[in-house]
Amino acid sequence: MDVPFLSARDINARYADELKAAAARVIDSGWYVLGEEVAAFEREFAAYCGVQHALGVGNGLDALALILRGYKELGALSEGDEIIVPGNTFIASFLAITENHMRPVPVEPDAASFNLDPDRVEAAIGPRTRAIMVVHLYGQLANMPALLALARRYKLLLIEDAAQAHGAISHGCRAGAFGDAAAFSFFPAKNLGALGDGGAVVTQDALLAQRVAALRNYGSEVKYRHLFQGVNSRLDEMQAAMLRVKLKYLDQDIARRRHVAQRYRQGIRHPQIRLPQVRSEEQHAWHLFVVRCAQRDALQQHLQRLGIQSQVHYPIPPHRQSAYRSLRDVHLPLTEQLHDEVLSLPLGPTLRDDEVERVIAACQAFECPP
Ligand SMILES: *Cc1c(COP(=O)(O)O)cnc(C)c1O
Repeated sequence: MDVPFLSARDINARYADELKAAAARVIDSGWYVLGEEVAAFEREFAAYCGVQHALGVGNGLDALALILRGYKELGALSEGDEIIVPGNTFIASFLAITENHMRPVPVEPDAASFNLDPDRVEAAIGPRTRAIMVVHLYGQLANMPALLALARRYKLLLIEDAAQAHGAISHGCRAGAFGDAAAFSFFPAKNLGALGDGGAVVTQDALLAQRVAALRNYGSEVKYRHLFQGVNSRLDEMQAAMLRVKLKYLDQDIARRRHVAQRYRQGIRHPQIRLPQVRSEEQHAWHLFVVRCAQRDALQQHLQRLGIQSQVHYPIPPHRQSAYRSLRDVHLPLTEQLHDEVLSLPLGPTLRDDEVERVIAACQAFECPP
């Protein structure tokens, strides 16, 4: 039997009875879009993150895009503005910016944490810079004290792409509660996953929350009165009901992820496999356990032969994608090198101890080709 990279089926099987009861509740209610389940999930998720407002939307990309769109409607952002973003992120962070006709300014990460490097962010700030989009990559909080200080000093919005970091916490403050607004994804493989697509915008800013609430629903606050040229991007009642069940177990799941990550960090001691560096345990929600290896493809094939699944997050950075030919003159050597070297090992709340030990033994047995 293969060690799965992540088994969404095993994850949800643990709560099958509760999920089925919640689904039955929605089916019997006869109300499927923007009803009581979404309102209740929004309250519960806002409380979990420690913020005033949460708005359920269609997915994580829409959550990011609607934050930017909301700030445009409030006059805080305009087309053509520059937004600083990590070069080494999932393409959604870039797409949300360009979809709003703004310009992503990618910067190199800090090599130890893979997260934004505040010094490089400061060097990239120019006269058109209006916001920093920070990504808590792989589940680890970025250096928020330094980035918040920069945002204040240069009067920039700080937007968190928290799609990988549900539950990461520092000094009592959770991912999503640091910046002006944050986007979450509930794609099934995320730390808090729905049984389909879903996302949320969280913020302390009542005006932004009001704009996003309208924009996700055809730009309407009162039925058939349209204040804005909005979109249709709503979390549905069924997914909200699923997420209400799973939110109760999120911290427990993260604790298990931490335990697995700790075992990997103790057990994998191989001169050619570089382990992820962590600032503090609680700041990492361990969405992904990402090692670096100069012979990444050989390591992945070796693991595959031993029945261990692994993935690459991500093989090609956004500025090297065909979709972003416009960024072809951008050179980010460290980002490009990381994309050639990173490998994500199996990690999830249902990974068993014997499977963790198999992964460790397989890594230890890797004979690096010259
Ligand atoms: C998953 C992810 C997104 C997008 O979320 P979707 O729900 O898939 O649209 C955005 N940013 C990051 C960093 C992600 O990992």
